[in-house]
Amino acid sequence: MQPKKLHPQTLAIRTQTTRTNEMEHSTPLFLTSSFTFDTAEDMRAAFAEETDDNIYSRYSNPNVDEFVSKVCAMEGAEAGVATASGMAAVFNSIFALVKSGDHIIFCSSVFGSTHALATKFLPKYGIECTLVASEDTANWEAAVKPNSRMIFVETPTNPQLEILDLEWIGQFAKKYKLIFNVDNCFATPVLQNPIAWGADIVNHSATKWMDGQGRVLGGIIVGKADLIREIYLFCRNTGPSLSPFNAWVLSKSLETLAVRIEKHCNNALEIAKKLEGHPKIKWVRYPFLPSHPQYNIAIKQMSKGGGVLCFELLGGKQSGIQFMDALEILSLTPNLGDTRSIASHPASTTHSKLKEEERLDVGITPGLIRISVGLEFIDDILNDILQALDKC
Ligand SMILES: *Cc1c(COP(=O)(O)O)cnc(C)c1O
Repeated sequence: MQPKKLHPQTLAIRTQTTRTNEMEHSTPLFLTSSFTFDTAEDMRAAFAEETDDNIYSRYSNPNVDEFVSKVCAMEGAEAGVATASGMAAVFNSIFALVKSGDHIIFCSSVFGSTHALATKFLPKYGIECTLVASEDTANWEAAVKPNSRMIFVETPTNPQLEILDLEWIGQFAKKYKLIFNVDNCFATPVLQNPIAWGADIVNHSATKWMDGQGRVLGGIIVGKADLIREIYLFCRNTGPSLSPFNAWVLSKSLETLAVRIEKHCNNALEIAKKLEGHPKIKWVRYPFLPSHPQYNIAIKQMSKGGGVLCFELLGGKQSGIQFMDALEILSLTPNLGDTRSIASHPASTTHSKLKEEERLDVGITPGLIRISVGLEFIDDILNDILQALDKC
């Protein structure tokens, strides 16, 4: 059915579930919990998986399948499973593939809830987790144990925008026969395809750039067919399904992902360049600024630098709070990856419960500001940041 040899960006637009008798141009919403059969034999065959007929929306649904097919095309993946949120994707991509007694290596700067999984929840089930400071490759080698089964990484990381070398980690995973699992949320499939560097599993919070307009939660796991099959069966029986409505929104959103991401990246790079050297700012970090510590890795594995930048205010925590209060256009909200630019100050919000040393351990300096650059007219975003800098 699906035409071969088309560019992933074309497939993100043209992949479509079969039209109904109405011959609609745009995919309709299949808001149904189950599907009917003409005969007992048809139903038997569907349950025996002799056909790929839909049975029940916890198992599959046309809107969900369309969304999954598009992300598989964009990531170069064999198969995929959609989930109700990004964390459901992260959790199921791990939990479905490991058992009690296995060991998982994580990069230390993973997303907050992933960090909680590794430190608080997975160990309860006898799954050993080691968090590794990624700067030095010797740390990775030292973390390997005889029962190591998976390596889970994120790049660029949040909020420090550290870049991990996917090519090196791909070879490392192969050497020790580890399942290589990547959270590719910050880069999106438009900018970076971890499977090309050896990843077995890639997951996304579709809530962020994929939706891109701050409307729905969603997640997706794609990768090798045999691993995805295990994850699918686990999800089918435990029920973290993506709703048809959210899948319909997300599938439509993918049609514009490439153009949106290009503009987000261009705006972010220009703002990062303009802020570098500002008298109130200690340093600016953005993957495609040559001053970024892993700039060479970023340009090797990403086609653009992404929509997030961060900087450290010279005035520390108090300046961070003043900066946030002085913003007139940028939103103060914990989300990212929206058409609307968003600012956050981790030291006084997401990481405020940690002690100062603990914050520094995870890279949260007192004056750190993270900006998710939106699609507003660039001068308006920049001027809002500049006027807020004047007031802190
Ligand atoms: C937001 C986010 C998640 C979790 O996604 P939800 O959709 O909020 O569950 C996971 N990883 C990264 C990198 C994120 O930014």
